[in-house]
Amino acid sequence: MAIAEKHEAQQQTPNLDWMKHIWSVKTSPKIKDFLWKVANKAIPVSANLERRGLPAFACKKCGGVEDDLHVFLLCPFARNVWELAPLMEGPEQTLPALDIFLYLANKMIVLPPVGLYIPLWPWILWHLWKARNKLIFDNRSFTGEEVLLKAIKDAKEWQSAQVEGVATQQQLTQRRNHSMIPQHLTGNICHVDAAWRQETETCGIGGVFSGPNLPSPPIISYSRRFITSALMAEALAVRSAVMLAASSNIQSLTILSDSQVLISLLKTKDSRPALYGIMSDIYHLSRLFQSIIFRFVPRLENREADHVAKSALIATIVPPCGE
Ligand SMILES: [Zn+2]
Repeated sequence: MAIAEKHEAQQQTPNLDWMKHIWSVKTSPKIKDFLWKVANKAIPVSANLERRGLPAFACKKCGGVEDDLHVFLLCPFARNVWELAPLMEGPEQTLPALDIFLYLANKMIVLPPVGLYIPLWPWILWHLWKARNKLIFDNRSFTGEEVLLKAIKDAKEWQSAQVEGVATQQQLTQRRNHSMIPQHLTGNICHVDAAWRQETETCGIGGVFSGPNLPSPPIISYSRRFITSALMAEALAVRSAVMLAASSNIQSLTILSDSQVLISLLKTKDSRPALYGIMSDIYHLSRLFQSIIFRFVPRLENREADHVAKSALIATIVPPCGE
């Protein structure tokens, strides 16, 4: 990799484009979810747990300090896997942070004989992670070749499963082009969504920002208890987006939600008794913007936010990365 390119990457890393570098990667939803956790430092490597006040532990492979960069890149075991990988150019061994790895990862082209036209690197990360967990929890050890072969096999399986889906993808793109989002819609956008579980009155909230001025972090993801309706959860998602944008000094914002009911309430500055507090927060905070627009978006075009919301809800039931 050219030095100038590396320098550029380091400078741009604070603006890691989540859409481009994680959500748009051609890989399975399971892997995207995993990448998202990795990028958010939400995987239970020693360094991340230490930050939450838990005791540190060493890499079980080599005894080194275990952080994300170590597990995926710097551990001799990981290095070996990357060296074996059939890539035109493997990752730099001197990257200072995993964010930069994600930023540059799509440049890692798979060599043609392998027959993969989707990225292999996400599957390598995934299987490095699985190998790490197998060693820690089951005391099972794999060789670098085994990890790599599993990554290639899984990637190929997923790739061939997509072939049937190609027609549907094309239809989707066509539909998107005729969608309700005007093509000229630029500026700061936040897709929001909520996933609500009636039995436990718990919801997961998701928000994904895109545009020139991204707040930090550009993704909203959390869960809440004592939420009595799906509409209330959707309203919470909108409030979170408005709050985050306002606190990041974003001046103009379009919020896209797939809740027709909520959007029509917002457009008419209306409310419902149970939502009164949330809605008045939204209306109050809206005055801080030069321009704020609430717009309906079909479900299919709100998948990223939906995915984040569902993951947040699932995280309340399953401990993170139980794999
Ligand atoms: Zn190690």
